[in-house]
Amino acid sequence: MTVDVSPTDIAGRLAEIQARIDAACEAAQRPAGSVRLLPVTKTVSEPLIRAAHAAGCRWFGENKVQEAQAKAEAMADLAADWCVIGHLQTNKARHVVQFAAELHSLDSVRLAEELDRRLQSAGRSLRVLIQVNTSGEASKSGLAPEEVPDFLQAISACQSLAVAGFMTLALPSEDDALVRACFQSLAQVRERARQDGPAHWRYDELSMGMSGDFELAIAEGATIVRLGTSIFGARD
Ligand SMILES: *Cc1c(COP(=O)(O)O)cnc(C)c1O
Repeated sequence: MTVDVSPTDIAGRLAEIQARIDAACEAAQRPAGSVRLLPVTKTVSEPLIRAAHAAGCRWFGENKVQEAQAKAEAMADLAADWCVIGHLQTNKARHVVQFAAELHSLDSVRLAEELDRRLQSAGRSLRVLIQVNTSGEASKSGLAPEEVPDFLQAISACQSLAVAGFMTLALPSEDDALVRACFQSLAQVRERARQDGPAHWRYDELSMGMSGDFELAIAEGATIVRLGTSIFGARD
């Protein structure tokens, strides 16, 4: 549940956020429209999500797969795409295959192989981003940056996975330099993948930046920013 924000506020809040994204693009001399806003709807009520859809949002991010699936089913009439952005246990891979358009938190070979197997049976593919732990915090999931090249080779035969790029959460810090270093690390991971990663994938996406740090992420090349509280209000 969120507090303080009502459905009638959502369009205005989205417009404010979009203006900040546009300004950050301009400051970074990046084209307008080069950053996509992914609204993060964890714990957000259906009326607020519907208001966001009515205001033009066509995809939503959730960190828990079952909550995401329940919402996708409850709001199937919206024809929105749902992205799973939180850590996924291998035994929940089948849920992702049932409804998700994109997974931002691929972080193990076992999970990749399980997804690939189930996607092949279902006759579909899945866009995936590889989660990288750029802050080094033990509490965060994701591969260490230096593990990514071998990981890409290890999953290169997973034909139903469309590896589209990389995702990270920055260090929660007041020190902009430390936050930026996380985003720079993800951009370097992508550079390396472009040079020597499996050539059948394009590594275009950098999913980085949340409500507290998305402008820094845009300055460092984010293509997707994942925003929850700045749109929907504080979570309980
Ligand atoms: C909750 C969440 C977000 C959004 O965080 P806010 O600070 O509310 O913008 C982004 N990414 C992930 C992985 C999340 O779990």
